[in-house]
Amino acid sequence: METALWHPFSDMAVVRDSEFVLERGEDVWVYDTDGNRYLDAAASLWYVNVGHGRTEIADAAAEQMRKLAGYSIFADFTNEPARALAARLAELAPLPDAKVFFTGGGGEAVDSAVKIARRYHAAQGEPSRVHVISRENSYHGTNGIGTGVAGIEANRTGFGEILPSSSRVPFDSVDALRAEILRVGPENVAAFLFEPVIGAGGLLPPPEGYVRGVIDVCHEYGVLAIADAVICGFGRLGTWFAVERWDAEPDLITFAKGVTSGYLPLGGVVAHGRVAEPFWSRPGNTLRHGSTYAGHPAACAAGLVNIDLLERERLIERGQALEGTLAGALNPLASHELVADVRAGLGLLGAVELTPDVLECLPSAVTDLHLLVRQHGVVTRTLGKAVAVSPPLTIEPEQIHQIGAALAAGLDELALKL
Ligand code: PMP
Repeated sequence: METALWHPFSDMAVVRDSEFVLERGEDVWVYDTDGNRYLDAAASLWYVNVGHGRTEIADAAAEQMRKLAGYSIFADFTNEPARALAARLAELAPLPDAKVFFTGGGGEAVDSAVKIARRYHAAQGEPSRVHVISRENSYHGTNGIGTGVAGIEANRTGFGEILPSSSRVPFDSVDALRAEILRVGPENVAAFLFEPVIGAGGLLPPPEGYVRGVIDVCHEYGVLAIADAVICGFGRLGTWFAVERWDAEPDLITFAKGVTSGYLPLGGVVAHGRVAEPFWSRPGNTLRHGSTYAGHPAACAAGLVNIDLLERERLIERGQALEGTLAGALNPLASHELVADVRAGLGLLGAVELTPDVLECLPSAVTDLHLLVRQHGVVTRTLGKAVAVSPPLTIEPEQIHQIGAALAAGLDELALKL
């Protein structure tokens, strides 16, 4: 039956009468409406870190909804779940004297972080610092600023120029960032925005020394470094806020997804105490920014239980402990004739990229592979030239091997189509 539901980032001319309807989930498994079971190797959109069907989270959210489902935290209003989650995140964050600004999701977190950076500079007497630098291939959501800085060019074009004072640098070069700051003039640059591992843009890990290197360059020129940990946080890289992997200290960190494992929508920004200081210590210096659902009590209650589960079951550590197993399951695919590259080994993230020949010969090859693998009972995600996997952190080693086997079978079947 044709749908009235307009799917994001989707070719509705194709999807309108071929939707894939999911009904329920349990741990790493999801079930469609025909009762078929799939291993959710994508964890939805990279976010079901604690796995599906956690009744503890559902119960906490429901209990909070019965008490006080929603209420704004503008001005002096607050609620216990929002206060408690902010305190917990501030303690876990690798930033001194951290403060937490909540949003409804990751894209809003990115826009918030950039606006905080601009207002911070203005408060410090440097209002000309408005320019934002991002990386080619980066993805920072689809709000205004996130669209304006998008490193995946196709996501930026066609909407008019949204953020004129922005530019992009090659994703793998610290020197390119320095050169761009000098070209624009350090006195004009507000922030550098980077994903520790580029996610939607193709799953690209940072070169050796990159994360510490770009933060050092930012600090040399008074530019705020914003780490976008929307995908990489909450255990995906085996750490809470991703950057601990490199012992790095940015100025702002955005988060979403894994903070609630997606049980309810929630995102936010963690600010270094130094960045929050002008707002927290100077009466009248109000950040005129924030959304209706910031600090939503039910979403924050879900987040608190999610963090309990991540801690109690040592799932953060598991994200790192299993990275070698994932690399072991995916790396052999590199020798397949259709495969150009396999990227795995940093947290529970992996990608299998097809060769330029395959993509030229069969433009739908990535989607075809994704669908073939799904017929083998494994849900992956299409990412440009690659299919990606980012399973729940609860996954067992033999299930990781099942992902590798399904991809191998899908690749063999794809070869028959060429
Ligand atoms: N930043 C990054 C790095 C992301 O991967 C995403 C979403 N995939 C976002 C921001 C946007 O988050 P949301 O879709 O929750 O707005």
